[in-house]
Amino acid sequence: MGKAKKTSKVKKCPECGTEVQEPYKTWELVAPFPDKKMRITVTIMGMYECPNCGKKFRAVVSKVKLGPGEVEISK
Ligand SMILES: [Zn+2]
Repeated sequence: MGKAKKTSKVKKCPECGTEVQEPYKTWELVAPFPDKKMRITVTIMGMYECPNCGKKFRAVVSKVKLGPGEVEISK
């Protein structure tokens, strides 16, 4: 609790399993309601394109919790 974890996950193509490093497009999804600690969760979504087969897929890039007192970033 309270510790920010930083583990970078490499996304893998659902078609062929090739690792895709960076999303070519990202956007934010803001939760409409705060959690029990009155924090708003912002989910960073990304669009990835497989360099091997060209498959495009969505994945969660990271989640940020914004609230009074602390900011928690999880990847
Ligand atoms: Zn692929």
